[in-house]
Amino acid sequence: EKKTPLDITSLARDVRAGHRAALARAITLVESRRSDHQALARELVQQLLPNTGKAVRVGITGSPGVGKSTTIDALGSYLIEQGNKVAVLAVDPSSARSGGSILGDKTRMARLSASADAFIRPSPSSGTLGGVAAKTREAMLLCEAAGFDVVLVETVGIGQSETAVCDMTDFFLALMLPGGGDELQGIKKGLVELADMIAINKADGDNLKRANATAADYRGALHILSPRSEHWHPPVVTYSALAGTGIAELWQKVLDHRKAMTASGEFAARRREQQVKWMWSMLEQRMLARLRSEASVRAKVRKIEADVADGHLTPALAAEQILELLQ
Ligand code: GDP
Repeated sequence: EKKTPLDITSLARDVRAGHRAALARAITLVESRRSDHQALARELVQQLLPNTGKAVRVGITGSPGVGKSTTIDALGSYLIEQGNKVAVLAVDPSSARSGGSILGDKTRMARLSASADAFIRPSPSSGTLGGVAAKTREAMLLCEAAGFDVVLVETVGIGQSETAVCDMTDFFLALMLPGGGDELQGIKKGLVELADMIAINKADGDNLKRANATAADYRGALHILSPRSEHWHPPVVTYSALAGTGIAELWQKVLDHRKAMTASGEFAARRREQQVKWMWSMLEQRMLARLRSEASVRAKVRKIEADVADGHLTPALAAEQILELLQ
């Protein structure tokens, strides 16, 4: 199949029309490592840019077992009942090593994956976290262009991937379990600096009392920290993904946050900052990719590296020489 700029225009049109197969193909193009594909993908995303930006972008994090997929299944189904189209994406930097990602896995979201108004895509597996995150972000833009009203981006509770997902979403939701002292570690890890809300899952059956106690602990802990915005104090809620209780209330907080942030101007500011951050992140990706992909450049870099290791060249001068290779 011959790929010309004309194909990109018709692919863009099909994505805009909301054709699922076209969306899937567009995301595959974005995820491709081939440089000709990457050039086409850049053009595609540029063409679709005017059609992006309207979705509610929500990042969801939590340790394995906390109930991320159950939550996304329940929340996504609720949102579809409300008339939304919901896309689920994932950032799993370990997927490159394991060969596959369990995040965003359709089989874990039975109800949602059966819906015509849901689109679920597992994490791309592309070497570095930066690469995985960049591709997920572009996939998010494609989903928006395809008419999805809500994009849920799932990640695991590992520092850097949470920051990356926070940087591409409007609202960052941290899921926690009832009970135990170790959950409060999220506070120490700096997660709370990212989280716009903490939601304690599995508030059902015998867990109910413990969930409420845990929520109170988090509220106490959050109280002594200064919030990221003076217009939003991250709430702590309890819910049950399995029973579906508290899901509507949880989503209402997301909408409340959006309203407050829009009114204060922080919503637009956050999006602007994110765009610029992503520009730098893409630049970093591409510069590193060039150093690694061109054989002649790679050989020169290896030589410079060896000279630094042997003490024949200062790191500063070496960095200078590598920069010159990029010109
Ligand atoms: P993930 O690894 O974070 O995606 O977690 P899963 O969604 O796979 O859930 C892990 C386990 O917790 C599964 O056995 C779920 O059935 C269970 N689980 C998820 N949500 C709830 C809930 O609200 N209440 C209870 N009791 N169990 C839940």
